[in-house]
Amino acid sequence: MREHASVLHLDLDAFFASVEQRDKPSLRGKPVVVGGVGGRGVVSTASYEARRYGVRSAMSTREARARCPHAAFLSGRFHAYREASRAVMELLRSVSPLVEPLSLDEAFVDLEHAGLPDLEVGTVTGLAEELRERVAAVTGGLTASVGLGTSKFIAKVASDLDKPDGLVVVAPGTERDLLRPMHVTVIPGVGPATAERLRRAGIHTVADLERVGLDELVQLVGRAHGHGLHELARAHDDRPVVPEREAKSVSVEGTYDTDLADRRLMEHLLTRQAGEVAARLRKSGLSGRTVSIKVRLHDFTTLSRSTTLPSPTDQTATISRLARRLLADLDTSGGVRLLGVGVSGLADWVQEDLFGETAEEQEPLPEVDLPTDRLRGWSPGMDVVHAEMGRGWVWGSGRGVVTVRFETAQTPPGPVRSYRADDPCLTAWQPAPLPEDAAPPAPG
Ligand SMILES: [Mg+2]
Repeated sequence: MREHASVLHLDLDAFFASVEQRDKPSLRGKPVVVGGVGGRGVVSTASYEARRYGVRSAMSTREARARCPHAAFLSGRFHAYREASRAVMELLRSVSPLVEPLSLDEAFVDLEHAGLPDLEVGTVTGLAEELRERVAAVTGGLTASVGLGTSKFIAKVASDLDKPDGLVVVAPGTERDLLRPMHVTVIPGVGPATAERLRRAGIHTVADLERVGLDELVQLVGRAHGHGLHELARAHDDRPVVPEREAKSVSVEGTYDTDLADRRLMEHLLTRQAGEVAARLRKSGLSGRTVSIKVRLHDFTTLSRSTTLPSPTDQTATISRLARRLLADLDTSGGVRLLGVGVSGLADWVQEDLFGETAEEQEPLPEVDLPTDRLRGWSPGMDVVHAEMGRGWVWGSGRGVVTVRFETAQTPPGPVRSYRADDPCLTAWQPAPLPEDAAPPAPG
């Protein structure tokens, strides 16, 4: 156990929905639901205004619409989420070299390496306050909840205690008092099944759990889990903050604000990504045996598929052929919003390629337009630009008509206009691609 509350956990509040409210002034203070907007869609993030109506992540969009019919249901703009996430992670890395991102909107930071004069509660609290202000500054006003504690477990519990826009510091020595009244599900790894098993044994709170001996716990939930629970119930958690390490895989992925439905376009994108992966492998003198693809469907479910070669490769033709074959087995008829290719199982040498290609083959790529609104219509929330009215976002569409609200993060709430869906003056707006668009994380 650490002596000081030097583990910081930062969690952006209602992240996707907050980015939408930032960029769409008319939605500020209103219920916003980001997720799959189709019949089988699920909620990814609900704004706090929508949560008041009982809308939650992972709920079906159908149920969310029933609970909060007046919410804005948006299909998500990953370019904006990635950009905000990148700015926050960069800020955190300027504070300490030990930053462990957990997702786009969450990370641990180890303050033992932040160059602070000391790690007393007052000092780390001051740093956290300043960090929260800087998060708002670099993201154009997003709020973050921050927790500080003597371990990852405690820091994460702390950041959750005063959401949104909160800061909780658990003073060293008070961890067990904090945990005792909490339900056992506060412990990482205690899901519904374990909680139910514990409940049947009369164990509800962490205090109940603390009174159970190790042997009994192992009998209840198994050896590996039992040991972990025994430790965590006592707030014992030594897990280090682990920064993104040297790549164990090389991958490239792209997110699309408009669902891709055209198979040929998807294959084209996969082939191009395979080329980038292969080039990076060769540049680092690496090769890998396992080729994976990652596909996020229009309803936000994410699928990964992989296949393993008998020997490592760094060849575009091989990687792209396998990637396309993996894609062929997936049902993407409802549309796709993320595609990625990765190679893992890396070796720092290349063996004879499975398919016998010795020189890099350049497959001719079919000329295909990049994703535009024409591929799958106008999705709610997407960025558009009108020749005369300028930038706006799709408020709704149907029956050959698209309705746009003309406003951006920098404008007041703007006017609403409707157009024919094929109006040549109206086009999808895409940000200039960032170099980071080709960065990890790995598929899977
Ligand atoms: Mg969050």
